[in-house]
Order: sequence, then structure tokens, then C-alpha cells
Amino acid sequence: PVRLRVAPSPTGDPHVGTAYMALFNLAFARQQGGRFLLRVEDTDRARLVEGSEQQVFDTLRWLGLTWDEGPDIGGPCAPYRQSERLTTYAPYVERLLAEGHAYRCWCSTERLAAMREEQQRLKQPTGYDRLCVGKTEEERRALPGFSETPVVRMLVPDDVETGFDDLIRGRMSAPRPDDQVILKADGFPTYHLAVVVDDHEMGITHVVRGEEWVSSTPKHVLLYRWLGLEPPRFAHMPLLRNENKSKISKRKNPEARLTWFEEEGYLPEALVNFLGLLAYPPAQDAEGHDVEVFTFEEFSQRFDWADVNPVGPIFDLKKLDWLNGVHIRELALADLTSRLLPYLQRAEVLGPNPSLGELARLEQVVALIQTRMAHLTEAADLVAPFYAADDAVEVADDARAQLKDDAAATLDAALAALGDLPDEHDGVLGSEATWRAEAIEAALRTALVEGLGLKPKFAFGPLRTAVSGRRVSPPLFESMEILGKGATLTRLATLRA
Ligand code: ATP
Ligand code: GLU
Repeated sequence: PVRLRVAPSPTGDPHVGTAYMALFNLAFARQQGGRFLLRVEDTDRARLVEGSEQQVFDTLRWLGLTWDEGPDIGGPCAPYRQSERLTTYAPYVERLLAEGHAYRCWCSTERLAAMREEQQRLKQPTGYDRLCVGKTEEERRALPGFSETPVVRMLVPDDVETGFDDLIRGRMSAPRPDDQVILKADGFPTYHLAVVVDDHEMGITHVVRGEEWVSSTPKHVLLYRWLGLEPPRFAHMPLLRNENKSKISKRKNPEARLTWFEEEGYLPEALVNFLGLLAYPPAQDAEGHDVEVFTFEEFSQRFDWADVNPVGPIFDLKKLDWLNGVHIRELALADLTSRLLPYLQRAEVLGPNPSLGELARLEQVVALIQTRMAHLTEAADLVAPFYAADDAVEVADDARAQLKDDAAATLDAALAALGDLPDEHDGVLGSEATWRAEAIEAALRTALVEGLGLKPKFAFGPLRTAVSGRRVSPPLFESMEILGKGATLTRLATLRA
């Protein structure tokens, strides 16, 4: 069975690229009935950011891209954090040294910097000049630029073969690598050694990662060969791009941060769907139309490496907005309501412990706004009026500005018409005349459109302002039904006064 992994480095806010890689790895693993691992690559101690690892776990779980083995859940290849595996790497380094594929290098950082500067000045290719090759520690100590704490480097042959096969790109090659450091002075392996050892030890069959690693893969292939190990298959995913073809990056694009999507009110289903449309063609329906809306399971089932497009896809947020609206409309009402709750609490529309009555009302309101949202964050503004005090609805400036001189007469007529409309309190349950949207609408049309001869737009504008405080609101008559007769009349009377 196949084994795939995502291998994030906890160096800050998780990158949306991590979710994108996780999606393609997981889709293939699930399709093949294999396993998906999460491995934390934290060997670069200088770049570690506190809390970043937990954010990676949280954001991937939020997306439903969950792993079968990982640092937080364990598994047969534990530990899954590279900083806890230093004793695993040591014998591999020893073997490479013993067999002459690697050597210790005592060159100080100052010497290496000066060497690079000189190479650049002379317009020579940069790379380690192999001063330490074939020298004992004592021999090297006698020369300038010596450091007490050596690193270990790969001894890359001059005629090294740098070709490899890629599941997406076919036969690939890369420039001859430099004598890559594999063990650092602090005793930690570099990415290149750790990734090879761990992918082997963890039984990884397919390495699926970003295109920026193409130039590193020949180094990895060399390490596999020297260590007598079977290399995995490789697939290098195209990097996500801006409209201008630059790669999206956390420094320039807020949407490169994975935490941004939850903050902005995107559904995890929509983001997964969106990521599955990047670099991958949609399915076609019977009439040959693109099927752009799908679930993870649907994506996983039809996934094929041969169909991945190696050209960097444009990260088009307009498409994501559209998908988000589609997925919002597909949610069951109770599900959407509970997903909106944290957004409403964050916006302080509801308190930390809403009452059962408040929650019941929320579900009624959500039914009115489900089709009107592209982001969950938009709900707060739409829902807030339903929890306002009836004699203190905040009226937006643009709503007040559009009130005409005849608004008072309109409100008076509406108050009279609705006052006559019985509600449950009057004991006429079930009859057409009870406080229901259709009856409310009929009564108001009779009184305002027929009675006062107003155009519907002018008849209902002041009522909308009274009820919601907004020029644009959820459907008016349904809103009145949810608020109830008492609350509606109070709101109309308050604006009238
Ligand atoms: P920045 O995006 O600002 O360069 P960074 O350098 O910290 O941030 P990395 O740590 O290099 O980001 O990348 C984190 C992960 O995201 C890596 O697995 C990398 O492959 C992936 N990644 C980075 N940029 C992209 C991109 N444009 N498209 C897809 N994946 C990306
Ligand atoms: N730690 C690397 C990254 O963050 C993993 C690359 C790989 O998958 O081999 O991109």
C-alpha cells in the first residue's frame, strides 16, 4: 500500500501551499487505500516559530485534511518530529563518511563567505572549493579559516547523474549540485539528509511536494543510491501564482496564510474544492460541461497524476468567493447556523452563551440569509438587527437619508394595518390571518399600495428602515414574522416618533 506525507516546517503562519500539497498527497493516498503521514521538519532551529506547529495541525484539521500518523497522534514510525530523531540520522552520516561519500568540513562561516564573494567577483560558479577534502582535522587546523565545529558535506562526483523521473513532469534533470551540507555544526541534519532518511524509515512511496524542490531532488537521489536504498516516486506540484505570474508568498499575499481563510469566512469545503481546481482539470458532466463543484471524496476518486497540469495555476480569489457561496447554500440549515455562531460571537452580535430562544431565532434568520452570503463574515451585519432592542434599532445614515416626508404617514398606515392582524396571542392559530409573512405582506399591500397609492419601493422602504435600520436587509415580511408582532409594532412606532 502507498504511503504519502506532508512535511511542513513550523516557521510561521502555515502557508496555503502546505494545504495544497496535503490535499494532493491525501487524495492519492485515500484513492489507493494507503496512508497519509504528517511529519514536522523542524531541523532549522533558527527559523522555528513558537505555536506554528499547532497552527499547522489546527488549520489542516479544519480543512478535513487529516493524517493517519503524526507527532500528535503517534504511529509505527514515531517520533514524527525531526528534532526528536537525531539518533536516527547519526548512523547514516557515519556510513556516508566511512564509505567516502561524505567528508567533514571545518571551514568557518567567514571563510565560506569570503570564498563566495571572490567567486562572484570573478564571475565563477559559486560552490564549495573542497579545501577540507582528504584532510585530517590536524592538517586542516594548520590552514586559515578553521572552525572547531565541523559540518559534514556530500562529496558529489564531477560526473554525477542528475536525472530523475517525475510523475507530473516526466524525465527531469537539474544542474549539478554543490557539495551539500548534510549535518550542521549544531549536530542537526539539514533538510536534505533528514528528508531522505525519514522518507525511507517511514516507508514513503510517493514524495509529492512543491516545484521549488526540483533542484534538490538529484541530491536526494544520490543519497538514496549511496545508502543502497530504493528511492520513492517523485511528483513536483506547480507553485501557486498571482495574476502577474509571481509566486504567491506570505510576505505579499494575505491569502498565502492558511489562517486567513477562516478569518475571512470561507468554508473549509470551499477551500478544498478550490485547491482541487488549481493545477487539475474539472470533471465533465454528460453534456460536456465542467463540474467545478465537488467534495474531497469525489476529487480523490478521479485523481490521476497524468492529469496534473505542471503550469503554475493562478490563485483566483473570485473563483473561491463563488465556490464559497455555492457551498454555503448547500449546507443544512442547522449546520450553517452552528458554523455562523463563532463569527457572530466574534462580532459580538451574540454573547458567549446564547439562550435557547436566541439560538432558535438564529436558525430562522439564517434561513433568510443563506442565499445572500459569499462569506460567513457577512452574517453579522445581516443578523444583528434581529437581536437589537426594539425601541433602539440603530438606523444607518443611508437608510435615514432615504426617508421621505411621507414616511410618517406610511408608518402610521402600516401600524394600523398590522395592529389589526391577529397573532397567536389572539388565539387564531393556523388561520390565514395569523402573523405570517404572506398575511403581513397582504395587509401592508392593501393599506399602503392600494390604500395610499404608493409604489411598493416607497411603501416598504421606511418599514425596512424601522425594522432593520438598513436600506438593504433580509426579506422584510419574513423578518417581521420572525420578530413577532409586538416587536415589529414597537420598531415601527419608534421610527415614527
Ligand atoms: P513565502 O511564501 O513568503 O515565501 P515562506 O518562504 O516562509 O513564505 P515556505 O516556508 O518556503 O514559505 O513554504 C512553506 C510551504 O508552502 C512549502 O511546503 C512550500 O512548498 C509551499 N509553498 C510556498 N510558496 C508556495 C506557492 N506559491 N505555491 C504553492 N506552495 C507554496
Ligand atoms: N519541509 C519542506 C517544506 O516545508 C518539505 C519539502 C518536502 O516535502 O520534501 O516544504
